[in-house]
Amino acid sequence: MTWRDDETKAVFDLALEFFEREVVARNEQWDAQRHIDREVWHTAGKLGLLLCSIPDQYGGGGGTFAHDLAVLEAQGYSGDLSLGISVHSGIVAHYILEYGTEEQRATWLPPMATGKVLGAIGMSEPGAGSDLKAIRTTAVRDGDHYVVNGSKIFITNGSSAEVIVLAVKTDPQAGARGVSLVIVDLRDCPGFSVGRVLDKVGQHGADTSELSFTDVRVPVANLLGPQEGQGFAQMMAQLPQERLIIAAQACGALKRAVAETVRYTKQRQAFGNSLFDFQNTQFELAECHTIATTCSVFLDHCIDSHLRGELDPAEAAMVKYWLTDKQCEVIDRCVQLHGGYGYMREYLIARMYEDARPQRIYGGANEIMKTIIARSL
Ligand SMILES: Cc1cc2nc3c(=O)[nH]c(=O)nc-3n(C[C@H](O)[C@H](O)[C@H](O)COP(=O)(O)OP(=O)(O)OC[C@H]3O[C@@H](n4cnc5c(N)ncnc54)[C@H](O)[C@@H]3O)c2cc1C
Repeated sequence: MTWRDDETKAVFDLALEFFEREVVARNEQWDAQRHIDREVWHTAGKLGLLLCSIPDQYGGGGGTFAHDLAVLEAQGYSGDLSLGISVHSGIVAHYILEYGTEEQRATWLPPMATGKVLGAIGMSEPGAGSDLKAIRTTAVRDGDHYVVNGSKIFITNGSSAEVIVLAVKTDPQAGARGVSLVIVDLRDCPGFSVGRVLDKVGQHGADTSELSFTDVRVPVANLLGPQEGQGFAQMMAQLPQERLIIAAQACGALKRAVAETVRYTKQRQAFGNSLFDFQNTQFELAECHTIATTCSVFLDHCIDSHLRGELDPAEAAMVKYWLTDKQCEVIDRCVQLHGGYGYMREYLIARMYEDARPQRIYGGANEIMKTIIARSL
């Protein structure tokens, strides 16, 4: 069995064309305004590129997670990492599908599939990122509502989302067992405000934001999962799949960096030859191509395991850590082969260089991945 079949290949091609035309070609506009226009999301929805693996009864594509991963690998290959489709389709929709009631699914998934509603996930806080059980946002019961107070940071789609799956403490004394997930409707939400859209090193088109919640009233019916206190376990259960998403984006970026650099070095002349004619260039690209190929094989293995329901957390941690480390290494080597042009943002490789860096940090820092791997030894 392999996840790379004719269908996922067709999804990849469709998605690549979408990302190149709608996102990469208009990068300067997205960078300047620090978000991507909603019309781009609507186009993605019309093409069937959102919520590919959500059942069609909820407006999704009715495919498998392989279809979502094909979209995300194509995104990496296009050189874009700003459109927050990984969080929207790959993460938020799956929390709602997996842990939501029928009513929650019917409310949120169909408009998410068209791009009418955008999703965000709010875990990280100024005082708690890797150590998620230390979050301080509280949800205190008051009749049939929770009253939510706290702040979140680094939230992808933060300034544009209409819905957020929010990690809160329903029992601050209970450590990890006191964490719950609630769905917050941000459209009419007194007490909610977006702080800064953060000034990042790369991924400039993404509206990664600070969010604040002051006495926000959330119906108890918006709890995800039948009981309070399951949020930490829910997050841990979803994280392996989220790590595959990041690895798929990394894999696309690795392959594109090599292809782009082969193309560039073959046409650039120096000392009477093309750059590609130097043995150093050939050896560098031979090594980078080998790295990209072995990464792709490992990713394929992990995706196939996941589709069989057999991907374990250690393997998911390995593929996230290894591919994102290699993404940064290979892109850095490809920048070198571009010379000064590789540091100019009008060149795709320069943008890929600045966008790649946080892949080693979010979705669980790579050091956290190594602790997970070590625990399995
Ligand atoms: C562009 C971007 C988008 C993001 N999007 C989202 C989002 O949509 N939603 C969301 O909730 N969060 C999001 N994040 C936040 C991201 O998940 C956190 O930054 C990440 O989990 C690390 O948390 P931290 O930044 O608080 O770092 P810290 O927890 O302070 O850790 C800092 C560093 O310390 C080291 N470290 C920490 N713990 C250990 C350990 N146990 N062992 C060894 N070393 C360790 C690691 O090197 C780590 O990178 C995003 C971040 C970025 C940069």
